[in-house]
Amino acid sequence: MYDGIVQELIDELGRLPGVGPKSAQRIAFHILQTPTFDVSRLSTLLSEVRERVKFCERCGNVSENDLCAICSDVRRDQSLICVVEDAKDVAAIERTREFRGLYHVLGGAISPIAGVGPDDLRIRQLMTRLSDGTVQEIILATNPNLEGEATAAYLTRLLASMEISVTRLASGLPVGGDLEYADEITLGRAFEGRRSA
Ligand SMILES: [Zn+2]
Repeated sequence: MYDGIVQELIDELGRLPGVGPKSAQRIAFHILQTPTFDVSRLSTLLSEVRERVKFCERCGNVSENDLCAICSDVRRDQSLICVVEDAKDVAAIERTREFRGLYHVLGGAISPIAGVGPDDLRIRQLMTRLSDGTVQEIILATNPNLEGEATAAYLTRLLASMEISVTRLASGLPVGGDLEYADEITLGRAFEGRRSA
């Protein structure tokens, strides 16, 4: 334990996801002891990121504009939408460079235990995007766990009556895990080997 403000900093850092007490202490001392560490840059970034970054009004990805960089890119295949739970999954899939279509971020997964139902997700917005007939294929890339599977099954049923091909990422992704933690090669292969849902 440290006195006053040092301990406050350690406690605050320790509240961040994935940062345990040891790491919090290490980061705090790095900030305190490294002359080249630019404190004002970090503090400016922290306050600006909340002000400037919003979510794309079409796909729900993080963006500094009304439309994100992917939705604004006319070279992307407009007939293909990859449905993911979270904006972090968009970044994971982009790193594979396997996918040249568009995304739709649901903002979570169906979970009766957590009280999350279809109406809590951006499913209505997805249906609106499909209404003009441009989209030919929907790739369901929800997480390979219970909630992700339930969400994929729900969407498959919902989309069954539409003339759109619905595919699911191939198995091989670590079961129970999060898409964002899958390595690029595994995730890339899962795209290539996607199958009809
Ligand atoms: Zn977008």
